[in-house]
Amino acid sequence: MTGVPPQPKAAPDARNWKPQTRAVRAGQLRTDYDETSEALFLTSGYAYPSAEEAEATFKGESAHYQYSRFGNPTVTMFENRLAALEGAEACRGTATGMAAVFFALLALLKAGDRVVAARQLFGSCHYIVAELLPRYGIESELVDGGDLVAWEKALSRPAQAVLFESPSNPMLDIVDIRAVCDLAHRAGATVVLDNAFATPILQRPLEWGADVVVHSATKYIDGQGRMLGGAVLGTRAFILDKLQPIIRNTGPALSPFNAWVLLKGMETLSLRMERHCANAARLAEALSGHPKIARALYPARPDHPQHALAMRQMSGGGGVVTFDLKGGKTETFAMLNRLRLVDISNNLGDAKSLITHPATTTHMRIGAAERAKLGIGEGTVRISVGLEDADDIVADLVQALG
Ligand SMILES: *Cc1c(COP(=O)(O)O)cnc(C)c1O
Repeated sequence: MTGVPPQPKAAPDARNWKPQTRAVRAGQLRTDYDETSEALFLTSGYAYPSAEEAEATFKGESAHYQYSRFGNPTVTMFENRLAALEGAEACRGTATGMAAVFFALLALLKAGDRVVAARQLFGSCHYIVAELLPRYGIESELVDGGDLVAWEKALSRPAQAVLFESPSNPMLDIVDIRAVCDLAHRAGATVVLDNAFATPILQRPLEWGADVVVHSATKYIDGQGRMLGGAVLGTRAFILDKLQPIIRNTGPALSPFNAWVLLKGMETLSLRMERHCANAARLAEALSGHPKIARALYPARPDHPQHALAMRQMSGGGGVVTFDLKGGKTETFAMLNRLRLVDISNNLGDAKSLITHPATTTHMRIGAAERAKLGIGEGTVRISVGLEDADDIVADLVQALG
């Protein structure tokens, strides 16, 4: 041993690698110990070799790490790997997916500005847009994400930000990314797309015109239900000049430990997504003909109302199936309570199959009127199809349906 502290070496050039190679190797910063697996730097601070180096670091003239609220080598590896997968110039990790959504919007908006969002939003995203931002003098408008006429009307007035999910949670509505980005850009807005359901394996929104991608890494990027994490991706100018000062000074930092787990999660992401998609397709097939089921929604099935659009933008249907039981809350709760394998849980993107009743859980707070607009009924159930054997998942649902 030389006693020299490990200094990360430059990351490999991932530009010519195919996605799966990027998922395994992009962003790795090897230290002088030449470890094969990425190092976990559990440190809050960094020592400087001299007072001059500390001064240069604070002036922004040295790339030395400063403090883990500002940056950490393990977090950097996570950010650079995800950026390579999304095809983004830059990325910043955040503590949760909600921090990613919120801080992406904060970086774009100020009092007097206007945000237009699809009403098909995750419950907490809906809270930010419809309740929180207006308190700070930011006007918000919700439109039906699948209705291009509604988007056009809302974006006939200037706006600074546009936010949507595609596919959406929980109804798996698809937004025409290219068309909405064109309308948004004409209105002067920056488009923020929540890509949590598709992941960069199935959909790369920047290629379709989106400006900023946000992730709940809690979902498929971890993929095993272990932790929370998020990320914001975009141009270097947006990430470094607009987002970074806000997140550095307000503190939604991603923990290095979580970044390490998420970094390793990306190595198996495409393999897992392949199986999530195959299992979800099998389950959707079994449910769609079932006499107790009114409809089953899965983007990769031709009976999904926006199937053609979904398949233009995505290379697979994803891991979530949403269906409506014939009957109301009583029949639906009885079915959920008969499940033996699938867990009742509002999380998703886990190796374990998880099922939830959005009207009484994830989408309870938005109220019955808004739920009706979204098509979330008392019999609506969302299942995040896991990595168990598809036969066992289908058998459990079929026995629970009775
Ligand atoms: C879960 C989820 C979020 C929030 O992510 P957290 O990591 O739970 O904060 C945001 N958007 C979508 C689409 C989600 O599914």
